[in-house]
Amino acid sequence: MSDSENDLISRTIRFLNQQKEMYGEFQVVAATKSQKHESGSTRTESIPESAVSEVEETKEEYSSEAKKELSEAELIAQCSTLDELRTLCESAEALKTDLQGTNLVFGVGNPNADLMIVGEAPGFNEDKQGEPFVGQAGQLLDKIIGAINFKREDIYIANILKHRPPDNRNPKAEERAKSLPYLLKQIELVDPKLILCVGRVSATTLLVKDDSLKNMRSKFHEFHGRELMVTYHPAALLRNAQWKRPTWEDVQKLRERYDELRGQP
Ligand code: URA
Repeated sequence: MSDSENDLISRTIRFLNQQKEMYGEFQVVAATKSQKHESGSTRTESIPESAVSEVEETKEEYSSEAKKELSEAELIAQCSTLDELRTLCESAEALKTDLQGTNLVFGVGNPNADLMIVGEAPGFNEDKQGEPFVGQAGQLLDKIIGAINFKREDIYIANILKHRPPDNRNPKAEERAKSLPYLLKQIELVDPKLILCVGRVSATTLLVKDDSLKNMRSKFHEFHGRELMVTYHPAALLRNAQWKRPTWEDVQKLRERYDELRGQP
């Protein structure tokens, strides 16, 4: 072996020992084809590059799939405050619709409210402001709750979906199913005595049954140890004034039950 080859070998050994001291034991990874060519190596035995990347890709795929499936339910279960749940929702791809670039509309109001109102999905204004029911339907909702002596900050308001669907279309079954575990956790954290579902989408999603609004309204349904009332969506009232009276009757009943449950006359 020539002097320069000996010199190269001892410099390489010195370098590897330094690396080992700094970083501990390390792995030797097969060089890629281009690296091999660049270094002018003439190895006769090599691991094919495609096999190496295939193994790496499969490993990554398995571990991220396992992480995703296990961790979504686990991460939701781990949230012990609304702030923690909101942070989780902020990064949850599962909550997004096919409309790009929308904002999270998590929920708003008294975090210890005894009444929670659940709507369908954010619209244009809600998406812009990041708050449920702030558009035209929201203004009517404020009037409805005002008529039974609630202020917006007394109650908690959320939607089945936390992102706006395109063209304000109805949420798809798949979108509702993906969003539901987050909403159920939100309900658990707020822990209201009463829930008011406004509109059929909200009611059929939470009650997990397909029925007409007419059949579901005007009575209290059992919901995970709470009571749930269904009434018309304020947007529907803007189009169909004849539903205002039954809505008025529903919310009167709701207020009476609210006072009863809180032990007030
Ligand atoms: N309609 C809903 O169902 N929710 C909103 O937040 C706004 C309009």
